[in-house]
Amino acid sequence: MKEWMEGGGAEMSVDFYTDVSKLPRARYLQLVTSIKLLDPAIIRSNEPEEVLTFTYEEPLGERFIIPWRKVKAKLRRLVAERGRDLGYGVDCFLKESLCMACPTCLLFGGTGETSTAKVDYNLMSRVLGETFISRNRGVEPWNYTANAVGEVKHTTGQALMTLITVPADTEFIGVITLKDPTPEMAALLVDGIERLTRIGARSIEWGRCKMDILGGGIFDREKYAAYELLREDELSKVSPLKLNLPDVGKSFKKLQSEMDKLVKSVKASGD
Ligand SMILES: [Zn+2]
Repeated sequence: MKEWMEGGGAEMSVDFYTDVSKLPRARYLQLVTSIKLLDPAIIRSNEPEEVLTFTYEEPLGERFIIPWRKVKAKLRRLVAERGRDLGYGVDCFLKESLCMACPTCLLFGGTGETSTAKVDYNLMSRVLGETFISRNRGVEPWNYTANAVGEVKHTTGQALMTLITVPADTEFIGVITLKDPTPEMAALLVDGIERLTRIGARSIEWGRCKMDILGGGIFDREKYAAYELLREDELSKVSPLKLNLPDVGKSFKKLQSEMDKLVKSVKASGD
């Protein structure tokens, strides 16, 4: 693999690191992504809101937004699912029982204190995100009135609840950044992105979506931000991204062996 070139030109290279390092370095894989709703998505219900609106200064004005923590939680769950399927991180679950020792924890981070593993180290998330912003102005949300089912008697017709939804076809733009990327980490992240198919509250029945990578690159800084791409109308200028990523199964295997070494050295240094 070609080494990172001297000089720091922002678009000089799409080279990855080949190893997992404890020390942060100045290299960022940025994935400019879109989440397009195939169904209406709930923005307000009796459950916590997951899609919101926010009023930016002009020219953006009022937009639908998805907080990053919601997208991150989904991605983490999807990566963890894939890992468990392949035999990695089988005892690792959000939120209080992170194992702090699997590839998913390596990628998304965690705090030792809140994990059942009771480890005395924290892992920084290498996946950095931002608010996803709708590509177009927030149009009038569509109100959907449904019969609420009473929790106690399980009968309908006791109250009508109004669900406020974001219309189908709404497209959100967000930039996901992988700090100090290796091909294997990128493989896990991209696999999760490609399998993200639902967003919003009540997503068992609502919120089908499709997540795509529009472009990006590896830079010596965080170059792209959804806010600027939308404000300057520069989405079409985002570099196309061709990542030749390794197989997901092999990636989990390699990352697990690197994680094992990291955990071992962290524990040794703590003694
Ligand atoms: Zn884990």
